[in-house]
Amino acid sequence: MNDLNVNLENVNSRIARACKKAGRRAEDIRILAVSKRQASSRIRELRANGQKAFGENYVQEAVLKQRDLTDLEIEWHFIGPLQSNKTALVARHFQWVQSVDRANVLQRLSSQKPENLPDLNICLQVNIDREQQKSGALPEEIPGLAQLATNMRGLRLRGLMAIPRAAASEGEALQSFTNMYRLFQQLQAEGMKLDTLSMGMSADLEQAVLAGSTMVRVGTDLFGPRTPA
Ligand SMILES: *Cc1c(COP(=O)(O)O)cnc(C)c1O
Repeated sequence: MNDLNVNLENVNSRIARACKKAGRRAEDIRILAVSKRQASSRIRELRANGQKAFGENYVQEAVLKQRDLTDLEIEWHFIGPLQSNKTALVARHFQWVQSVDRANVLQRLSSQKPENLPDLNICLQVNIDREQQKSGALPEEIPGLAQLATNMRGLRLRGLMAIPRAAASEGEALQSFTNMYRLFQQLQAEGMKLDTLSMGMSADLEQAVLAGSTMVRVGTDLFGPRTPA
């Protein structure tokens, strides 16, 4: 077995253990492999081990790597801060955008999604811990944005994403994730058909799964350390 396969198996067993503790089914949690600042050859290797969904944070870097990988069937997720002047490129090159946090970006993605491509899957990013410098809409802005996204052509709202504050303890991480789960449930109670709660990374995926995550975004624990920016 190669190192990436071992890493993937380790992440899968961590998810399985957390699911057992939470009384959940492991099939209900997807892994997004976060490949920012990893070479396209590493993505190819992990794809050969069965991993299909990959997440990227930087548009230019992602587009260059995608060019090396056109022969592979990969589901690309954009998860980085999204500037308005990059939305057209993102709408063309990604199947998912998980970092949408304002109406202007929703409008641009909707009008720029090429006609010949399927609807763009959207997650709204929530600044769940109300941090000053953090991307993401505040929790109280989410219902309005979700309503807007639901009515836009070319977009399919799938759910919510968050990067909670670096937690001082497991209990603190669990609290942020639980707040996300409540917000997710609130939208579902309003009748929205959402299936994706994207939360949990290398360091805290167990707490995220306990709180109801359906997609963990794992970089370091799958690929190893990233090359410096
Ligand atoms: C980098 C990144 C990750 C992965 O972080 P790791 O700690 O390396 O697992 C997940 N989500 C987002 C939005 C990221 O930017």
